[in-house]
Amino acid sequence: MQEQLPTGPTSPLGVARPPRDADEVLAGLDPEQREVATALHGPVCVLAGAGTGKTRAITHRIAYGVHSGVMQPQQVLAVTFTARAAGELRGRLRQLGAEGVQARTFHSAALRQLQFFWPRAIGGEMPRLLDRKGQAVAEAAARCRIRLERTELRDLTGEIEWCKVTQTVPEDYPAAVLGAGREAPRDPAEVARVYAVYEQLKRERGVIDFEDVLLLTVAVLEDRADVAEQVRSQYQHFTVDEYQDVSPLQQRLLDLWLGERPNICVVGDASQTIYSFTGASPRFLLDFRARRPEARVVKLIRDYRSTPQVVHLANGLLGQAQGRTAQHRLELVSQREPGPEPRYTEYQDEPAEAEGTAKRIRELLASGVRASEIAVLFRTNGQSEVYEQALADLGLPYRLRGAERFFERQEVREAGLMLRGAARAGSEGTETLGEQVRAVLASVGLTPEPPGGSGAVRERWESLAALVRLAEEYEAGRAAAGMSTALSDYVAELDARAAAQHAPAVEGVTLASLHAAKGLEWDAVFLVGLTEGMLPISYARTAEQVEEERRLLYVGVTRAREHLFLSWAQSRSPGGPRGRRPTRFLDGLRPGTGPRAAGARAAGPAGSTADREPAGAWDAGSGGAAAEGGGPARTSRLRREFRPAVCRVCGRTLGDAVERKLGRCADCPAELDEGLYERLWKWREDRARKQKLPSYCVFTDATLLAIAEARPAGPAELAGIPGVVRAKLDKYGADVLSLCGEPDAQTDPVETGVGEPRSETVEKSPEK
Ligand code: ATP
Ligand code: MG
Repeated sequence: MQEQLPTGPTSPLGVARPPRDADEVLAGLDPEQREVATALHGPVCVLAGAGTGKTRAITHRIAYGVHSGVMQPQQVLAVTFTARAAGELRGRLRQLGAEGVQARTFHSAALRQLQFFWPRAIGGEMPRLLDRKGQAVAEAAARCRIRLERTELRDLTGEIEWCKVTQTVPEDYPAAVLGAGREAPRDPAEVARVYAVYEQLKRERGVIDFEDVLLLTVAVLEDRADVAEQVRSQYQHFTVDEYQDVSPLQQRLLDLWLGERPNICVVGDASQTIYSFTGASPRFLLDFRARRPEARVVKLIRDYRSTPQVVHLANGLLGQAQGRTAQHRLELVSQREPGPEPRYTEYQDEPAEAEGTAKRIRELLASGVRASEIAVLFRTNGQSEVYEQALADLGLPYRLRGAERFFERQEVREAGLMLRGAARAGSEGTETLGEQVRAVLASVGLTPEPPGGSGAVRERWESLAALVRLAEEYEAGRAAAGMSTALSDYVAELDARAAAQHAPAVEGVTLASLHAAKGLEWDAVFLVGLTEGMLPISYARTAEQVEEERRLLYVGVTRAREHLFLSWAQSRSPGGPRGRRPTRFLDGLRPGTGPRAAGARAAGPAGSTADREPAGAWDAGSGGAAAEGGGPARTSRLRREFRPAVCRVCGRTLGDAVERKLGRCADCPAELDEGLYERLWKWREDRARKQKLPSYCVFTDATLLAIAEARPAGPAELAGIPGVVRAKLDKYGADVLSLCGEPDAQTDPVETGVGEPRSETVEKSPEK
């Protein structure tokens, strides 16, 4: 997963060694990247697409600054947004010989400062971090006598987070939500009440949450000039990667860190904005020049990461994007040799999709691709399990957690102790370093061949094997520089890596959410579960939310260097109804599909066209009523009585009977409640069997689908669904409504963006 191409000069063995001086740092850069790397003074803004070397440019810029003596490593702070991305930054900086530079998430940088300054600035001990926010929000809601379902709790928690990063206090929430054009998850006054009680609850318990860490750091820096002064004298140079995802609160913190100084370098890609739902905004990136007219703005367009085939799909996706970020899209130009075309596969059900994916992974491994160079990316964490199972069934190693915690694993700590002991004993011999390390680690369970399966035992083995591989690479790197290597050198290297959290690549297929994959890359990427409802996720309702989902797919596609597989399943479980459709985002891009009508794309599932009434065919029974005329009153009565059947998504007039029943074109996106559809389906089979009737006599597929999409709340709404005639309402109404009222614990996809990638590494050590 780590940057593949050597950053510094390469030894005859193909191992990168750190550059010796500032000029060597620049050797691996193209002219624009070099412009970034050498602009050490004054604000710099890099606007560039995925894989164009933004992260490479900023890490080289820091290394160039360090090697040329302009920057002291301890005075540089590089920040990004996820723990994985921070780990990636640290790894790259170390490879470039820029040890000692702090590369952190905003959160972990703020937390360190807050912990360090708390006793002086506030006094006493810093409060504990709240670890189960959802539970606290549920409690706050209960105190307000509001009972929340799982999805409602998720939405409300997200809304409170949004309030905090946009610095909206409870009293201002109703006005702020209006002003921001946001859709409140429930009555704004209620949200404000729960938010206020949640804050009170935290105060009562003496705990703070994730957002409070940033808010309190900002408050301390604003109130205490001496503290601000100390932080500013420590950090002189700031770099922000993935700047398109900065929130107003993080921006405020950044401004406080910086003070009046110009030493800031930001890089980002508006087309990869994927955290808007948490209050992040690309406007800080896009308006950087306006805020700092003296800034140097550099654009990069050469894509070094992906083959022309992958880039073509990425450009195609961007070509269909709408909205402000889309105006800033940058067409990518691949610099790599051609590779295989992206492959699209439709499976019958999810287990089949997972099994098919695992088999393809096995083929890739057999063809020589390393497991650590393969990733399976999904929209929600709930999708992971079936892939874990499928990989385990084939005995393929995988990893869920980020490599950043490598040095805290028990087996790695044990291995460190053993290696330290062996180094002290000074076991000199003719063996290579790799052989020595292998021999020592045999005592903690390293066998020549990996154990079968892919559970904890295999994970342990892979950690130990990673330490051997690292030893081999380390030795080769030093040999290239004309140095010999003792075991004690390797132990020192491991200590330095542990301090910098620079984990080696552990073999294992990465399973991660699309959000967590940001900034990373693999040779082969599997984008799975690409169905309507998953991508865009069912609760992405506004056109803007749908655009963010499209960008998420763009992020996924651009993670692949060479092999890209895209797949979806027609139904969730084997034998279940096959109501799922592939994501609309691939329409016109995957073979055999034409572009969707522009109106539908722009509006998304919630793009209501109710007030558009195209002339043309009328629904059954309307005859030529529209042509009759008879004054405005009559026309409006006729309109009420004889509404034309138009697609509620794109507004097209519907001719086909099934489409009329559905209330939308067959290929327009559905807001299908899949869990409900499955329950209705099973219920219908059961009823039909009992009544000894064919299933369609109970309800046709189209009617079931229409019910699952409309999710009627009472008999009147149910009766309004075409196909639910009086007799059926009497006979089945109660059953259907009770199924519609059931919460669907299984299907509710959990938003990965809220918790996981933002739950960054929490470090406890004080500011140095
Ligand atoms: P993202 O938008 O996904 O964060 P990025 O713009 O930060 O991407 P990098 O991760 O820095 O891109 O670079 C993508 C890949 O291209 C890396 O493997 C990097 O080593 C390689 N690369 C970048 N620039 C060059 C270059 N000038 N020569 C060779 N390889 C390069
Ligand atoms: Mg990057």
